[in-house]
Amino acid sequence: MHDLRSDTVTRPTEAMREAMARAEVGDDVLGEDPTVNRLEAEAAALFAREAALFVPSGTMGNQVCLGALTRPGEEVIAEAEAHILVNEVGSVSRLWGCQVTPVRGTRGVLDADDVAAAVREPDIHHPRTAVLSVEDTHNYAGGTVVPLEALDALTAVARAHGLAVHLDGARLFNAAVALGEPVARLVRDVDLVSVCLSKGLGAPVGSLVVGDADRVAECRRLRKALGGGMRQAGVLAAAARLALSEGPAALAEDHRRARLLAEALGELPGASVDLPSVQTNLVFVTTTSPAPAAQDAFAERGVLGLALGPRRMRFVFHRDVGDDALEAAVDAARAIFG
Ligand SMILES: *Cc1c(COP(=O)(O)O)cnc(C)c1O
Repeated sequence: MHDLRSDTVTRPTEAMREAMARAEVGDDVLGEDPTVNRLEAEAAALFAREAALFVPSGTMGNQVCLGALTRPGEEVIAEAEAHILVNEVGSVSRLWGCQVTPVRGTRGVLDADDVAAAVREPDIHHPRTAVLSVEDTHNYAGGTVVPLEALDALTAVARAHGLAVHLDGARLFNAAVALGEPVARLVRDVDLVSVCLSKGLGAPVGSLVVGDADRVAECRRLRKALGGGMRQAGVLAAAARLALSEGPAALAEDHRRARLLAEALGELPGASVDLPSVQTNLVFVTTTSPAPAAQDAFAERGVLGLALGPRRMRFVFHRDVGDDALEAAVDAARAIFG
């Protein structure tokens, strides 16, 4: 089976497993796990920010960021199909007592003027707009990248209105590779960023939160509040260090393969692809037949994709699939959609 359902299916490499077995550990809640401390120091250096925090998942990463940047009754602006809005179990409201106001972007990218228009005027009736949350790459828009000028315009408009900026950088390394920019540039003007290590970078578990030391210290408290204070987490951090140092180099190949699949799908009568939105490792396909049936037909041909709507399927390239998976997916697509 070629598993193209998600980049979360990546398994730890042999080198990761060896590093995990050998990892020096301590009690990380007491700040005494040397491997976690190394990972956090390396991440802070790579992102050129003061501090980093290892958390168990991207959802917890996003949520501790949003908890650190808000008070109850406040408002977070996010793109209408953002992960924090659609896929985190309503946590912004259930955990922090805040509401999320959706603003529609173009291929997932918010327009700075639309954000400015959504910020509430100070008024006794209004919630205070506290945070702008940006997703880069944007998952449901197709793995789209926020162009650097757009990102700078968004951080500028947030500053001008006194909003903090949260970056859901679950796939920020994919964005950095697509833009040819270092991740440090992409997080330069944001307050807190959350980055997944367990997707295309290949770690078995974990995300990082990165930002200024005082903000990250608050995230550390909130991680504990959510039950995410881990003890001998060095066994996980050992794999995460390799994901951080070696994972990004593999992403360009994932992007190349995604592009080739998208182009092949785009030529078939039973499928359509918005090619401009295929910018990284995700390929969303609109199907003329019901997507769940197409998903089954792909599975019968040894290719796993994901039906994410009645007529919508997603294929994801990652380090555990290669050109053979691409070929199998193209062959299956021709049989199913041709
Ligand atoms: C995967 C993902 C997350 C975090 O997901 P977890 O499964 O909790 O690690 C957050 N934001 C986006 C955009 C994602 O794709």
